[in-house]
Amino acid sequence: MGYLVTVNSGKCIGCGECVDACPVEVYEMQDSKSIPAKGDDCLGCQTCVEVCEVGAISVDDA
Ligand code: SF4
Ligand code: SF4
Repeated sequence: MGYLVTVNSGKCIGCGECVDACPVEVYEMQDSKSIPAKGDDCLGCQTCVEVCEVGAISVDDA
């Protein structure tokens, strides 16, 4: 079972909290937006969802 990580770029304010919070470095910043560049590495812990204050991130069972 894997996970599908998505960032709503329209909501993302580029704070970088998800980049700092993810234990397996799924995220990287591109043009002041967070991109789930290594989404296949996601552990499903939901930490990024909790730290994103604008609700831009979804982590769902894939
Ligand atoms: S925590 Fe949310 S708003 Fe901040 S960079 Fe990540 S996706 Fe964007
Ligand atoms: S759910 Fe956990 S492992 Fe997956 S992207 Fe978010 S912080 Fe990283």
